[in-house]
Amino acid sequence: NLILAFESSCDETSVAVIEDGHKILSNIVATQIKSHERFGGVVPEVASRHHIEQITFCIKDALKEAGVTYADLTAVAVTYGPGLVGSLLVGVTAAKMVAFAHGLPLIPVNHMAGHIYAARFAGELRFPALALLVSGGHTELVYLAGPNDFAIIGETRDDAAGEAYDKVGRILGLTYPAGKEIDALAHEGQDTFGFPRAMENDDNYDFSFSGLKSAFINTVHHADQVGEVLDKKDLAASFQQSVVDVLAEKTVKALKNYPVKQLILAGGVAANQGLRARLDQELKSFAEVELLKAPLKYCGDNAAMIGAAGYAAYQAGVVADLALNADPSLEFDWLEEQEN
Ligand code: ATP
Ligand code: MG
Ligand code: FE
Repeated sequence: NLILAFESSCDETSVAVIEDGHKILSNIVATQIKSHERFGGVVPEVASRHHIEQITFCIKDALKEAGVTYADLTAVAVTYGPGLVGSLLVGVTAAKMVAFAHGLPLIPVNHMAGHIYAARFAGELRFPALALLVSGGHTELVYLAGPNDFAIIGETRDDAAGEAYDKVGRILGLTYPAGKEIDALAHEGQDTFGFPRAMENDDNYDFSFSGLKSAFINTVHHADQVGEVLDKKDLAASFQQSVVDVLAEKTVKALKNYPVKQLILAGGVAANQGLRARLDQELKSFAEVELLKAPLKYCGDNAAMIGAAGYAAYQAGVVADLALNADPSLEFDWLEEQEN
């Protein structure tokens, strides 16, 4: 089984060739970060234009690096949501063209299912499983009853964790996206500020990061006003400790109430070293649960993870026709939608 996978939901144009759902024959990622950096965030129109410019080169490179031709392919998989509509449309259109021209089945993939399946490159998924899905736009605890059966049991009520990292980074004068740099700074500092841990003791699996963000901003602004210079490393460490504490505590609470075989850590923020180490530590109390972390290389947006999720969907018979459209606010009930 050889799947040609497409990802273009945000600011990465990516095409991959995946064998049997887990062997990465190629994974071409053209990032646009440099073009969005000066705006401090992704500019949708700029993103779509870059995708259009890059997509055919990515397809060519992915096939070439994998050493395969269109004739060798079994299917085409593509992210059709959630994400920026103009960006999604480029990948969806390209995938449809390849599927049509070469008579291949077209597999629709939810970008967030893709993030979860990045963990497939660390080992086989075993169900039931729980996933802590932390990215630039999402922060969710997801229960996986089976390979294509996702249910959100908790999520952020406001900002996503990655979004909070990026906003705080801006206050610290760091370049966008700031997650990685804050992570590095945090390791050299200490939690001296004691920022709030929102909803920590609430009886649910939801998150909130806007209060933390405000507390951070207020602290920095107040210091500016009185002419005090705060230690960036301690600010970063305090912020990160607060994020990691709530993510870990809600995950532990979920693990206590949902008996699962695995905990999957995925999404762009899953690259966070503080979070990875903390979950390693917490999982020692759950001898029967295996921690499957998406490999660092595949935490951010890439088409390899879409190929892995696409393979699971393909095996379950999920196929779209050429009327497939981008769905910017796609949710996890996608399989039911497909059946209707
Ligand atoms: P979504 O997947 O929700 O649609 P997205 O695709 O934009 O959003 P990802 O690419 O999954 O998001 O993740 C990007 C985010 O991950 C950014 O906010 C970035 O700051 C954050 N990030 C990357 N590395 C780290 C790190 N080491 N620590 C914390 N955050 C990180
Ligand atoms: Mg990105
Ligand atoms: Fe993403």
